[in-house]
Amino acid sequence: MTHLRSAEEAASFGAQAAFDSDHAPDPALIDTCVHCGFCLPTCPTYVLWGEEMDSPRGRIYLMKAGLEGRTGMTPSFVKHFDACLGCMACVTACPSGVQYAPLIEATRGQIERRYPRSFGDRLFRSAIFALFPYPRRLRVALAPLALIRSVGRPFQGRRGEPERVTLQAPGARRRHGLAQRLRAMLSLAPDVTWRSLFAAVPERTPAVGARRLTVGLLTGCVQRLVFPRVNEATVNVMAAEGCDVVAPADQGCCGALALHAGRLDDARAFARRTVEIFERAGVERIAVNAAGCGSSMKEYGSLLADDPAWADRARAVAARVRDVSEIVSELDPPRAPRHPLALRVAYHDACHLAHAQGVRQPPRDLLRSIPGIELLPLADQDICCGSAGIYNLVEPETARELGDRKAGFIDAAQPDLIATANPGCMLQLAAAAARKGHAWPIRHPIEILDASIRGSH
Ligand code: SF4
Ligand code: SF4
Repeated sequence: MTHLRSAEEAASFGAQAAFDSDHAPDPALIDTCVHCGFCLPTCPTYVLWGEEMDSPRGRIYLMKAGLEGRTGMTPSFVKHFDACLGCMACVTACPSGVQYAPLIEATRGQIERRYPRSFGDRLFRSAIFALFPYPRRLRVALAPLALIRSVGRPFQGRRGEPERVTLQAPGARRRHGLAQRLRAMLSLAPDVTWRSLFAAVPERTPAVGARRLTVGLLTGCVQRLVFPRVNEATVNVMAAEGCDVVAPADQGCCGALALHAGRLDDARAFARRTVEIFERAGVERIAVNAAGCGSSMKEYGSLLADDPAWADRARAVAARVRDVSEIVSELDPPRAPRHPLALRVAYHDACHLAHAQGVRQPPRDLLRSIPGIELLPLADQDICCGSAGIYNLVEPETARELGDRKAGFIDAAQPDLIATANPGCMLQLAAAAARKGHAWPIRHPIEILDASIRGSH
């Protein structure tokens, strides 16, 4: 492959090999890339900047150069992988079946283990990983927001202010100092209440009528504190459709944030605990209503493949994991009557649902099963909104650009409501909408179905 930019960039890289032999990117997977470039128009960073090394093809080329010792793990090398959203749009677009997920996870694993980030960067990332996967700690961290709201001042951050248009030279992109990151955190701060922070679904909910399935529910870390109504709606719909629902009270983080950030040991530890808990629950399916969590849990088999004590158990649990919309599809014909909801709905594909899990049709079918719903076509549906796990916290400027781009396309569709199946996307779209001066309601598809079944709006 010859690329002018890659040659220029390669010259700026160091001479030592970027990777050691501990879980380096698999050369056989790298060699499946035939450099055709079909993935380029769906890659958010390539769309923004048009630079080869910020495309899937360029990143795979860099991995190969790193394996062959043509580049070291230099700041220039790392920045191209830090900029990757892990959205997997390239996987959907690739006609050669390149498996980018294990490649980027291995690359990130090596970066997290071996690259000396600056003190401030390490501190910021460590704070995120000491907080987000632990609901009790996160509850304490979010309590001040609930307090502000309870004394009558809904938390706004910088929301509600229409965006001022600024033009940015390409080279000025990607400022992610502490100030930008803290500003991003404020703009993404969720509208939590005391009720949301302490809400919990019952550990066992019986099916309405004869039982069709026993379903476990992953309650999630952010989901249970910030959007507990999504878990409540999931339980309501599953029970109404004839499922016993088991939501183990002692469950913790599934490991998704750690896995997507390359913290593989942490991800494996969270995965083992989650496997154990859902084995004990004795369920036939595990319903997940957060796209990033679902994609990670479906990967448990490969995550724990090298661990003889856990590999089979992980594979067995992963085989039971479904996005909640997939379970609704499985329970066809539906048992619970749907009441009409007259709504124009813009459905935003969460990348870890559409690209990483290949689940596009079930959430659309779920929404179309509700009389009165009009699903609106959105431009550029395959491009990420910029949420991407912790991406909008560690790469705030790029995330903001992508969020604003997405909000522009949604604006053009003029919806009554936005539907999306991931808590990160819900927060990201709310912040982007607010910058445009919009306050579209944003709901998980299962909440809309629950409202239809209950006959409320
Ligand atoms: S579409 Fe697939 S084969 Fe083609 S350049 Fe992209 S990753 Fe490589
Ligand atoms: S995962 Fe997303 S951001 Fe990363 S290379 Fe693929 S398309 Fe681009």
